[in-house]
Amino acid sequence: MKIKCPACQTEGSLSLVESNYKGPYKCWKCRELFTITLEKDKLTSCEPLSEEEFQKQQEIKALQDKFNRQFPGRQDTG
Ligand SMILES: [Zn+2]
Repeated sequence: MKIKCPACQTEGSLSLVESNYKGPYKCWKCRELFTITLEKDKLTSCEPLSEEEFQKQQEIKALQDKFNRQFPGRQDTG
């Protein structure tokens, strides 16, 4: 999955298991932080994120991933 940074237009990549995603993204080049929303591999929204919020979101995402691994098939993908 390729993501174009809203701030500097540099293309970065994100490894996703699903085509829908909402979560933190960090540009490798300008190091801006965003909350991005992807729907069917398309970027539908992005909001600037503070370092603090980024950490928090990463923790939440890690917990969700852990949960999904423990209980496969339970995640609500719509
Ligand atoms: Zn950037």
